[in-house]
Amino acid sequence: MAPPGISSSSEENPNFLQSKNIVVLDGGFATQLSCHVSQPIDGDVLWSARFLASDPEAVIDTHIDFLRAGADLIITNTYQASIGLFVKHLNLTEEEAYALIKKSVELAHTAVERYLQEFPDAKKPLIVGSVGPYGASLHDGSEYTGAYASSTPVETMKAWHVPRIDALIEGGVDLLAIETIPCRAEAEMLVNLLKDKYPQTKAWLAFSVAQDGKSTAFGEPFQETARACYDLNPDQLVAVGVNCTAPRLIESLVDGINVGRSTPIPIVVYPNSGESYNVEMGFTKTDCAPLSSYVAKWLDMGVKGIGGCCRTGAEDIKAIKREVEKWRIQNNVSEV
Ligand SMILES: [Zn+2]
Repeated sequence: MAPPGISSSSEENPNFLQSKNIVVLDGGFATQLSCHVSQPIDGDVLWSARFLASDPEAVIDTHIDFLRAGADLIITNTYQASIGLFVKHLNLTEEEAYALIKKSVELAHTAVERYLQEFPDAKKPLIVGSVGPYGASLHDGSEYTGAYASSTPVETMKAWHVPRIDALIEGGVDLLAIETIPCRAEAEMLVNLLKDKYPQTKAWLAFSVAQDGKSTAFGEPFQETARACYDLNPDQLVAVGVNCTAPRLIESLVDGINVGRSTPIPIVVYPNSGESYNVEMGFTKTDCAPLSSYVAKWLDMGVKGIGGCCRTGAEDIKAIKREVEKWRIQNNVSEV
């Protein structure tokens, strides 16, 4: 087993999100998981992460759904996982909580093994460790406002992030998805943490954004923030982008981000279905066109990775994959 900080196989994929490569991500884990379990998921303080303990087979089946749909990678079910929440809500010791986060990677590996048994000629999918924001642990929708950024010291956020990242890397992820990050302070801390503590690990960084189509959720200018974060650590960041926002906002967020740059930032986007989440109201629809209808436009703009977030399932990933293939043929871009 490689020690923390030493990634097992990301070096095998040097072209990930680079040059002509286009990567299809998976979709909203909790959404697809709901096809395999009868208990409610939305509203649970642990969200889908509870099922790492209560129904690991359902977690594996959910990953396999996305792989069969054409995802090039799967993201571990750890967005809402943390040592503190597992200790509190699953009555685990800290060691058991750490082991359960590691187990999320094992379940993803099992899904990949089973998928490759079913499709022996398929390209080996990557396993990406989900690193959700500190705010997700507060269970008050703060990852969509970044409100905690002004009251929480970054050192507190760092101390909270480290054990989960340790567990994901020790479990053997290929790279990390630092995702739904609402504010620059937390993003910069994580990008610097990668450099200082996990120098061999690659990651992408995806922001949670405001409804104005130009700011992070906390209100900083998105493009300036994304560029600044990428430039802090271009060797380890395979992409920067946006997740869990309405598809209609992506164009104004991303368009022109690489103008005037000698090193373009590979862009990753994985919006939600266009329904926005509110703790009191739940999901409300704000976007009527399906996510897949935007894919060609985003690829024309140079986006390198596309997937789905909340309220998107395997069928959405299948539709995204179809659009990516169509675009490749139309633009004479072969698969890398
Ligand atoms: Zn989401």
